[in-house]
Amino acid sequence: MKDFLKQLSRNMLASVGGCVILLLVVLAILTPWLGLADPAHTDAAHKFVHPFTEMAHPLGTDQLGRDLLSRLMWGTRLSLIVGICASLFAAIIGSLLGVIAGYAQRRWDNAIMRGIDMLMAFPYILLALAIVAALGPGLVNALLAVAIVNIPFFARNIRGVTVGIVNQEYIEAARLSGMNARQIITTEIIPNVIPVIVVAMSTTIGWMILETAGLSFLGLGSQPPQADLGSMLGQARSALIIAPFASVVPGAMIFVIVMCINLFGDGIRDVLDPRLRSGALSRPRAATTVESKREIPANIVSDADSQMLSLHQLVTEFQIRGRSFKAVNHIDLQVSKGECLGLIGESGSGKSVTALSVTKLVASPPGIITGGDIQFQGQSLIDCDYQTLRHIRGNRIAYIFQDPLSTLHPLLSIGEQMIEAIQVHDQRISKKAASEKALSLLNAVYIPNAKERMNILPFELSGGMRQRVAIAMALVNDPDLIIADEPTTALDVTVQGQILALLNELRQKRQLSILFITHDFGVVAQLCDQVAVMYAGKIVESGPVNAVLAHPAHPYTRRLIACVPKLGAGKRHLPSIDGLPPVVDQLPLGCAFAPRCDKAQASCREKPVEEHRNGQRRVLCRFPEEVL
Ligand code: ADP
Ligand code: MG
Repeated sequence: MKDFLKQLSRNMLASVGGCVILLLVVLAILTPWLGLADPAHTDAAHKFVHPFTEMAHPLGTDQLGRDLLSRLMWGTRLSLIVGICASLFAAIIGSLLGVIAGYAQRRWDNAIMRGIDMLMAFPYILLALAIVAALGPGLVNALLAVAIVNIPFFARNIRGVTVGIVNQEYIEAARLSGMNARQIITTEIIPNVIPVIVVAMSTTIGWMILETAGLSFLGLGSQPPQADLGSMLGQARSALIIAPFASVVPGAMIFVIVMCINLFGDGIRDVLDPRLRSGALSRPRAATTVESKREIPANIVSDADSQMLSLHQLVTEFQIRGRSFKAVNHIDLQVSKGECLGLIGESGSGKSVTALSVTKLVASPPGIITGGDIQFQGQSLIDCDYQTLRHIRGNRIAYIFQDPLSTLHPLLSIGEQMIEAIQVHDQRISKKAASEKALSLLNAVYIPNAKERMNILPFELSGGMRQRVAIAMALVNDPDLIIADEPTTALDVTVQGQILALLNELRQKRQLSILFITHDFGVVAQLCDQVAVMYAGKIVESGPVNAVLAHPAHPYTRRLIACVPKLGAGKRHLPSIDGLPPVVDQLPLGCAFAPRCDKAQASCREKPVEEHRNGQRRVLCRFPEEVL
């Protein structure tokens, strides 16, 4: 709760709205004890007294000489009560119907939702008018009418959410544990839909106050002498020219109430939705932000003929609420033409962020590149303009993302998606030619019956097949470099072996360079020429795969290699590395691995570590296992 209020208070508009509403609610509750004049007391001698002219009537009087301030307060009280009651009524009935329809599905769902559809088939206000006409004018009837016409809004919303929840595994689990429908609804579903109901309510109360005021304005709501804001406005309308203040006073109050409730409601919605709160729903920029005054290493020499990609002292940070997480911390990497570089490290070590930085795909905000440079075939990717970057992305640098199901469009066939990927980069190519190219690529990645498979949707394929489609898609524009982010992690060993063999074959046939991200040294040994080991945002060791595997220099590398099981090596203990990687916003001055390292000494923790180099091999360790 404290957290909730703290977050709400960060939203300036919502806090102002909330404070005003709170003040009005308190005043409305206290109205009977405020010592105001009798709102129904008429005084013909004092009609249309202007505001601020008589002490007895600070806001003036209306056409019957009734005190406007007192009527305003009583009217506000009534309007707030009606609005809140109507939305509670609509929310409870609508949500119950929605939950039942969504949970029961089939016949009940059909019956309830078609009934709701019938309600929605009538124009909204006309339906409310018809209900009041049938029930007879009066505030309670107006309240019922407004509530009834709002039921479909809640029912539809909540049904949609419930249908999504009902198919989740934890509901299955609850069912298996022996819970009956009522228990599942009350303990599993309702707690999950309550935030949605609260959000929907907070944004509809204002609307309902407005609708009830509308009915009262037409004379169908509150009946004299009782007045809510709508009927005050309706009665003052005839004297709009001679006494505008009599309309302005209730009109302004309606405006303030509705405005403040909506602002407050929006604030509540933002706080309750964890995705909005974390900024995950805010649209990231098309390319990662680059800090204008970033430090660039001097004299970058990049040999465009042999080098495909080189990273120089790259720094990528996430700046979240005043803390900056250095996910990538001054790293250097080189990938030559036709070479495969394996980037390996524990989960969270910054591999994906490094790879995403290459094509400036790190979500910004909160991501920001604060230092270094990336050269692709001799051209800086950090400094190039967006058009150039767009041309390079997908065309010359292709990306295979970690989870193929979430990167493929669920509703488009495999063929359509591949054709789209081809045509985005080459508008001149005809659909037929693109389709043929797509087919030949699906064949190239050994998808059986590729022709028929072009017409099916991603969910109809198995994980390994989807991964092949992702690889085929990465190849559609004959890229020079492929970045593959753990493309085999979700697959079983046989399929993994096939995919690695496939990538290797493609590399040799097409002279591709590959940046291959993985956390498995076995995979690196199978596919890569070079390897770079990453820990807490830094490359702690790099070099040719064979040399590193045979003689690891960094204690971390040695222990990572020790974790790989060997076939035929007999029964042996596979040691894990105790402890956890550090949080990257408070990195120690010395070596980040020191707390988990068995060779660490006091000097490792206290002083920055220097890099040892020899030829292609580098290690970032004070006491390496091997002297390079
Ligand atoms: P991995 O090596 O497993 O691919 P990542 O590169 O995804 O690791 O993440 C490196 C670090 O960056 C992690 O500490 C992670 O929490 C952080 N990080 C990654 N993406 C984001 C993001 N969008 N916002 C904030 N922090 C992030
Ligand atoms: Mg990753």
